[in-house]
Amino acid sequence: MTSAPERPQTWQVCIACGHEMVETDPHPRCTRCGGLLEVDHRPLGPSRVDLLRRFTDRRGGGASSSGVWRFKEIVLPSATELISHPEGNTPLLHRAALDRWTGLARLLLKHEGHNPTGSFKDRGMTVGVTQAKRIGATAVACASTGNTSASLAAYAAQAGLPALVLVPAGNVALGKLAQSLAYGAKTLLVRGDFDDCLRLVEQAGEQLGVYLLNSINPFRIEGQKTIVLEALEQLSWTPPDWIVLPAGNLGNTAAFGKALVEARTWGLIDRLPRLAAVQAEGAAPFAQSFREGFARRHRVKAETVATAIRIGDPASYDRAVKAIRETNGVVLAVSDTEILEAKAAVDATGVGCEPASAASVAGVRRLVAAGTIGSTESVVAVLTGHVLKDPGALLAYHQEAEPPPPGANRPVEIDPSLDAVARILGSR
Ligand SMILES: *Cc1c(COP(=O)(O)O)cnc(C)c1O
Ligand SMILES: [Zn+2]
Repeated sequence: MTSAPERPQTWQVCIACGHEMVETDPHPRCTRCGGLLEVDHRPLGPSRVDLLRRFTDRRGGGASSSGVWRFKEIVLPSATELISHPEGNTPLLHRAALDRWTGLARLLLKHEGHNPTGSFKDRGMTVGVTQAKRIGATAVACASTGNTSASLAAYAAQAGLPALVLVPAGNVALGKLAQSLAYGAKTLLVRGDFDDCLRLVEQAGEQLGVYLLNSINPFRIEGQKTIVLEALEQLSWTPPDWIVLPAGNLGNTAAFGKALVEARTWGLIDRLPRLAAVQAEGAAPFAQSFREGFARRHRVKAETVATAIRIGDPASYDRAVKAIRETNGVVLAVSDTEILEAKAAVDATGVGCEPASAASVAGVRRLVAAGTIGSTESVVAVLTGHVLKDPGALLAYHQEAEPPPPGANRPVEIDPSLDAVARILGSR
């Protein structure tokens, strides 16, 4: 007797109409209604104990030791030929100075700047590019505020796929642009903002047949879930009270919510931390919707020093609303001044991060001051990108701003004499 063919484990499901598409369908959106797709894994085979053992056993080496692919069962179980750097396995840091700065008893920092191209985008991209290879894509493309393009460029190069990246001309941090060029992506500087880039690349995907690796790509979300899974693992699966992250296009907010709900469903944790998504005041359409109970979606013309979250019409809005609702989360906005002060505080501990990342730490301080987060609650703030991503913002803050901001560390030009050095030492 032959058994019935096994139902595939992974599907793409439309979050608007419920339409189901096979795992290898290359369409970026629901083919019935245009809604956002979500990857659905079912059913999950191994028991909790078995899963946890697999996650740690894989740390041994090779592509499956990556901080993404260690969690393969809940990322993309059917993937075999992995395009992995490897990535992930990032540290959970503690710096007492930041406890004092935020007013918390203990703040933990999940530092995603430790990924191979310096941002969490690598966690999504290893899955996205692995999927692109699986379905036989001949080229890949994305719109980006910079980090997605740096990451896509690197992973496409590894996979041997041509990559096309669209970034807003004049508004990409130097380190990110440099990476796209270095890794060999065809880089288009679009005379418009990120939201224009996103529209354009979606049209290109439809009409020119390239595989889209924007954050609307549901496989990228699956990879980004592992930020949360790994942090929970580092906390021995005792969930923190809060997880705080910067929010721009809202892919990560969506990924965090999905990871938490799934982790509870699969018995990995017994309660959900609350999510706090932090936007920049000049790019805060999601915070505005939150204040109105998500009664309606907003679009704004975005402006902020934190270019990675300089987004006025977030693509993953619907998914992120779900994430905030399901985790009893909050959304807030902080000013560019608060972001830069938080960044200076993080940088001064020797940890360092890019401006957008510091929004999470600025958000923690705000929420503690407002009493939303209790000072003894356990909090993980995510630092999304590396300090070297945006040298322009650093020099502007430390070297150029007049009057010097509170954390400015001005370089001093001297004559080549020991006297001059001694004078500086003496004046400290
Ligand atoms: C992409 C990015 C963000 C924003 O993440 P979304 O998923 O777009 O909300 C924040 N910080 C950095 C460093 C990023 O690269
Ligand atoms: Zn649909």
